[in-house]
Order: sequence, then C-alpha cells, then structure tokens
Amino acid sequence: MDCEKASYRMHHYLDGELTVWRRWYMRRHLNKCPPCAGGFVYEVEFRMIIAERCREQTPDDLRRRISGAIGFESGSEEGDWSP
Ligand SMILES: [Zn+2]
Repeated sequence: MDCEKASYRMHHYLDGELTVWRRWYMRRHLNKCPPCAGGFVYEVEFRMIIAERCREQTPDDLRRRISGAIGFESGSEEGDWSP
C-alpha cells in the first residue's frame, strides 16, 4: 500500500468501513511510515475533539491532553479549526 492509498483509506478505517485484511494492511503501512502514522494520529485526535465538542462535556484534563498531543497550546479552544 502506498501513501496515497493509505491516506485515502484512513477515513474509511476510522469510519469502520474497511475489511479486516485492509485494516491489517493499513496498520502495517502505518507501522513503517511515520508521515502517514502522524496523519492518522492527527485524524483520530481531530475526531475525538469534534465528538467531545458535540457533547460539550470535555473534561479540562482530556482537552489539555488532546491539545498537547496535536501540538496546540492549551487554552486555545477558541481556535478557528471547526469543520
Ligand atoms: Zn505512508
């Protein structure tokens, strides 16, 4: 699997639409391709924040942890990156 396919399938992976063997290939690619793995982590964190925002119940601790994980400074929740 090349990076372009990995990037394309990432969304299906996160949406649970890939078959078992495709998920396996996806994980194998992420394991040996740091750029794609980084993008994958970003995508996961992004979705987590969207989900949390929809619930409006994000604990401060979790928010700080997520912000730190993706390189945003804590306290920047008014950022301009909503979908
Ligand atoms: Zn890649």
